[in-house]
Amino acid sequence: MEQVLLGFNLAVLGGDLRNVYLIEELEEQGAFLKVLGLPVSCKPRVLLCNSLAEAVFNVDAVILPMPGVNNQGKLFAPLSEESYYLTPEIKKSLKEGVLFIVGFANHYLKQLAADLGVELVEIAEMDHVAIYNSIPSAEGAIQMAMEMVPITIHGSNAFVLGFGRTGQTLARMLAGIGAQVYVVARKPRDLARIYEQRFVPVSFKELDAKISQADIVFNTVPSLVLPADLLKKLKKDVVVIDLASNPGGVDFEAAKSLGIQAVLAPGLPGKVAPKTAGKLLAKVLPDLIVKHRKMRGWRDSDD
Ligand code: NAP
Repeated sequence: MEQVLLGFNLAVLGGDLRNVYLIEELEEQGAFLKVLGLPVSCKPRVLLCNSLAEAVFNVDAVILPMPGVNNQGKLFAPLSEESYYLTPEIKKSLKEGVLFIVGFANHYLKQLAADLGVELVEIAEMDHVAIYNSIPSAEGAIQMAMEMVPITIHGSNAFVLGFGRTGQTLARMLAGIGAQVYVVARKPRDLARIYEQRFVPVSFKELDAKISQADIVFNTVPSLVLPADLLKKLKKDVVVIDLASNPGGVDFEAAKSLGIQAVLAPGLPGKVAPKTAGKLLAKVLPDLIVKHRKMRGWRDSDD
């Protein structure tokens, strides 16, 4: 493997199992890694740290978990018994020009990055990252559906709400295993493409009349698209899997009172295919890190 990260010091803070695989990949690409809150062993180029200050000290980039931190700055570190908080205190450990990389940044993290004067890059919304991520996400959603419904996906009526990066992958995979796929979108352009790809196009206006045909519903729209009045039209044994970011697009309270199985399914790549998800991240991050250094070099030489 090409050692594109030779000479780079990186911190990997928390995250799920996909970060364990990501570390292996980044190490193979030549990076020196300082790790916090993950079950990895020390190696010549992997140093397990005990504190945030130690982990971020003098690194070129800080790789945060995809969900970042909560509103109190607590790092998402489900594989660690310790809790770690990202606070302005870390400033004294940071190298000039350090890059912070995260999936999604909440207000806390954006404010912290501004206060620290560091560049923060959010990768989850980058098209190529979202498209790569849609593969394990769609497989994971289908796996959940298979476990929850008493019928085969083959021959079922599967509704996919949203025809973005995740919805497109999901629709294609469902069709590949024999489902009759209905895709719900709002743009005429998307409805035309859905038709062209031989799925059944459904506009949100038509959903009210069509949704009673669904055996399984997958939502990828991060807005309330399945309110109580639509849930009432569903068959009683339908399963609703909501992939959209928290709080999802389903009125879960209403679903519960109607006796409909509806689940929010966050973080599927890290849960169902951490190795693939880690490798996919390792395709994307080195380029960002190397480009950041080049940009800094140019900026510094201009000063
Ligand atoms: P995307 O490419 O932006 O697609 C979003 C889709 O939702 C588009 O078709 C968009 O249509 C539609 N949409 C947005 N707001 C709408 C509204 N108010 N009414 C109707 N349609 C609306 O996003 P993505 O990458 O597919 O991701 C979708 C969601 O899944 C995000 O919340 C993402 O965080 C989440 N996600 C979760 C997992 C997981 O593991 N659970 C994995 C990957 C992604 P328009 O083009 O018309 O706006």
